[in-house]
Amino acid sequence: GPPACVALLAAVARDAVELLTDPVARAGLRQCAGDNCPIVYVDMSRGRRRRWCSSEVCGNRERVARHRRRAALASRT
Ligand SMILES: [Zn+2]
Repeated sequence: GPPACVALLAAVARDAVELLTDPVARAGLRQCAGDNCPIVYVDMSRGRRRRWCSSEVCGNRERVARHRRRAALASRT
């Protein structure tokens, strides 16, 4: 059956401890570059060049914002 709540919490806590004590994982900890996004993630991407918690959410939002800025500049000239 599904794990009990306490067991689930214990698993999450154990993972968190492992994450925060593993130097490799710690070096990969990043805060999302998205506006007002508090999410901290572990960057395991090649080259450690990931910028967002999720490219579908914050990455996409950033691309849309960039596009809007460019469109606004273009319409002013
Ligand atoms: Zn984010």
